[in-house]
Order: sequence, then C-alpha cells, then structure tokens
Amino acid sequence: MGIREAREVLKLYFGYDKFRPGQEEIVTSVLEKRDTVVLMPTGGGKSICYQVPGLVMPGISVVVSPLIALMKDQVEALLSNGVQAAYLNSSQSSAEQQRVEQQCYDGKLKMLYVSPEKLLSAGFFSFLKSLKINLFAIDEAHCISAWGHDFRPEYLQLKNLKLQFPDVPVIALTATADRLTQRDILTQLYLQDPKVFISSFDRPNIYLQVKPGQKRMEAILDFLEERPFQPGIIYCLSRKATETMARKLQEKGYNADYYHAGLSARDREKVQEKFLQDNVMIMCATIAFGMGIDKSNVRWVIHYNLPKNLESYYQEIGRGGRDGAPAEALLFHSLGDVMTLRDFITQGGENSKEQALSLAKLDRMQQYAESTSCRRKTLMHYFGEEYQKDCGNCDICDNPPTSFNGTELAQKILSAVARTKETVASAQVVDILRGSRNQMTLNKGYDKLKTFGAGRDVPAQEWQRYIHQLINKGLLDIAYDEHGALKLNANSKEVLFDGKQVELVKFQPIDPKEEKEKRT
Ligand code: ADP
Ligand code: ZN
Repeated sequence: MGIREAREVLKLYFGYDKFRPGQEEIVTSVLEKRDTVVLMPTGGGKSICYQVPGLVMPGISVVVSPLIALMKDQVEALLSNGVQAAYLNSSQSSAEQQRVEQQCYDGKLKMLYVSPEKLLSAGFFSFLKSLKINLFAIDEAHCISAWGHDFRPEYLQLKNLKLQFPDVPVIALTATADRLTQRDILTQLYLQDPKVFISSFDRPNIYLQVKPGQKRMEAILDFLEERPFQPGIIYCLSRKATETMARKLQEKGYNADYYHAGLSARDREKVQEKFLQDNVMIMCATIAFGMGIDKSNVRWVIHYNLPKNLESYYQEIGRGGRDGAPAEALLFHSLGDVMTLRDFITQGGENSKEQALSLAKLDRMQQYAESTSCRRKTLMHYFGEEYQKDCGNCDICDNPPTSFNGTELAQKILSAVARTKETVASAQVVDILRGSRNQMTLNKGYDKLKTFGAGRDVPAQEWQRYIHQLINKGLLDIAYDEHGALKLNANSKEVLFDGKQVELVKFQPIDPKEEKEKRT
C-alpha cells in the first residue's frame, strides 16, 4: 500500500496521469497514517488528497463537510467515476438515511460524506465504531476557527474524532491560510504530531485589476463587449442587485442569470447547473454562489462591490481560471461601498472584539483596492507569502504609477476640507474643488469659498483618487460615523501650514481603451 497504488487509483478513478505538486506528498503522509493538515487554495486539488488514499486503504473514509448543498454533487461525481460513495445529512428522509447506513454496515461504500450536525447527532459515533474507518477528512477546516469568516460552533466538537478514534488518521483541509486559523486547526482538532502542507496561494494566471466604482455599469458593458461568450461571475452585495444586474444584461442581449440564497433550493440548483453546462454564461450572484463549485473555465470574476475582506475576495476570484488558462479578476472600488460595509459591521451582532477585527480586515481590503504597487505582491504578502518581484500580471504592473510632488494638490484638498469646517464627504469636496454649481454647493454657499473651483483643471475621478491617497498616507481622516466627512489631523496641518511635502501617485486611467486614445 503505497504511492504506486495511489498513482494507479488516480489514473483508474479520476483519469489523471500524475499528481499535482504537493498532492503526492500529502497522499503519502495520509497513507503513513499521519494526521495531516492541507492549506491549499481553491482549485488546487484538495479532494484528491483524501479521496485517493481513502480508496487505496481498506475500509471506508468519512468526509465531514459543512456544505450540504455540495455533498450531493461531490457524491455524484464520485459515483460517476466508479467510486462507491454516499452522503448522510438532515435533508434526507430517515428511510434514505437508513439505506445508506445499511450500505455502510455491508461494507459496500468507500466514501461517506456527512454534515457536522449528522456526525454529532445521538448514536452516530457508535454507528461509526461498528465500521472499519480508514480516514477522517475534515473539509473546510477553517470553520473551526472563531477568527475566521465562517465559524461553525459544531466544528469544535470534531476534536472527539481524535479522542474516540485515536488510531484513525485525520486530514484537515482548507483554502484559508491566515496564521490564527492555522493555529486553531492544529490545536482544536487535537491532531497528533500533524504534518502540515502549505501550498503557494498564488494564482498567477489570474489578472488582477481594480477600477473606480463610478460608472461601473458602463465599465462592465465595455468589459463584456470585449469578451464575448466567456463564462464569468459578477458578484453583487445584495440579492436585489443580482436580479437587476441580470435583467440589465439580458436587455443588452447577454445570456445572464442570477443566484442568491433567497431562491428556493430547486431554483438555485437549476441555475447553477445551467452555468456549469455553459447554458448560462454570466452569473450575477451574491457570495452564496460558488462555494466549491467545480467549473474550470470561468474566465473572469467581477466584483461589483468591494468584498468585506481579502480572504473572501481571494476565495471568490479563485473561482476563475481553475483550468490554469488566463483569467481576469476585476474589482470595483468606491468609498460608498466601504461605508456600507462599515455599517454592516458596526450594526451587526458581533461583539466589540469581533467588530474591531472585521473593521481591520475591511481596512486591509480597502488598502488593496487603493494599492499603488503590484497587487499580487500586496495579496501574497497579506497571506504571509514572500513575493519579491512584481508579478507582471496586474493593472499596476501594466501601468506602474509614477509619483510626483503633489503638495499643491494636497493643500487644495485640505484647505477645502478646512473651509467646509470638516463636515463634508469626499464627493462634495470634489464638487467644491471643481466648482460645480449644484444644489449642495449653492445651498450651503460653498460657491463663495476661496477654494471653489480651485481645481477645475483636474477631473473629478482624479481628485477622488488623490483624496484616497491622502487618507491612505494618514494625511487626512475620514469619519465613517459622520457619513464619511473628511477631517483634518495633525499631519494635515503640517501640510497646510508648515509646507510639509507630499508625494502623490499620478492617476492613470487603467482602461486600455482610454490608453489607446491617449496614445494615438
Ligand atoms: P479544491 O477542493 O482545492 O478547490 P478540487 O479538489 O475541486 O479543488 O480540484 C480542482 C480541480 O482540479 C478539479 O477539476 C480536479 O478534478 C482537478 N485536479 C485535481 N487534481 C488533479 C491532478 N492531479 N491532475 C489534474 N487535475 C486535477
Ligand atoms: Zn503585479
């Protein structure tokens, strides 16, 4: 029983000629009956890491997975590969459950998927004790960490697996890699001297791009026009937004549909199936869509809104380009979204410690969106990976920003903030700088300010970016609890009154079309 048999199983059941880098070492570790932890990005090929050794070893493997909706797909995929698999969860009738249990008793199954609830239900452990179990696989193992974005209290009870079955190896798998979560997986599952495998989280084939959130619908239509017949996902914040988006795209003749948790299970399954089979090309979805969906040819992922943290973002864009061919991730970023997400967090049910963590994560997300250096470097750094050179496959690498002495621009912004008594948000500051005579500026008498129209020569979008840069540099504060009013701080006063110099990065349009126009 060794790696040779494992290679045969890989070929026989899954049709693959060789293991991907990392998989072979993981399979070997499990075959040696060692507790094993696998941190591998989405699409990296985690399933093979427990399915292959489970098939090589005599007995049955028990796979704990929190995603009931996916269990059926996984089991069906295994069955169609000739693997005797079944699942047990609360969605089944008791007759169905009994049938599966009988199959287990009869030694007819090689792989049993169970939900954590089912696993912890009364009598289930004694049922398991009557079987010849060769492996426990714990999928989505990050659910054990209270620090993570997907904490499931039942996961804490999974330590009983090791306590009750000390001789059965446990393999824990996740695509979430941050250090706190790693530590929790190792300690909470009571793993014995585990071998930990951390794959690189880099997905070099995904082109990373961020655009300002203004006029995003137009930007999306431009984007789609240049990519006809490519399957892709547009993530929206709200259920309603997914429906509106799908309708707008349909009106333009696109083959789009929507998916969110408000749909019935049946409808969700139906539309998901259509997408998997390329009968729907564009899926407008909330983040409920995509957990473990195995569609390899998703060519692009658009985030209409800023996600709440980089973990979620990376997981979501990871659904693109699983086949290794070039794919694109386009993120729209607006301060409005940041404020909405802040409100979610501060008005949500989290305690103050959790809130602070969520807010800090949101800050990191925003920093990524406003990064003026290689995006992949920023991302990999966040996930704790060293990434020395620039990636050459992101918008920043394509359009490296050049910095210039932006002291005068900064002073104009700061003085507009001062003259409006620190009561207005960035969009209004831009209106004042640009001298826009609208209801707001006229009603408030801002047109009489000295700074009114002092920055007519700079486009509004560009002003917005400079304001973000000042915020990022700590030269300006933003009061999220006052509708995003900009506030001066000690640093801003140095710029305003002591001639402190400010380096800004030149705003460059990142739309290739605009670029072309500029060049010709
Ligand atoms: P994860 O669970 O890590 O997101 P999956 O287990 O769903 O990833 O695998 C992602 C894709 O990679 C699947 O389509 C799978 O069939 C494929 N895959 C996994 N291992 C191999 C391999 N050794 N050779 C070729 N394809 C593989
Ligand atoms: Zn880059």
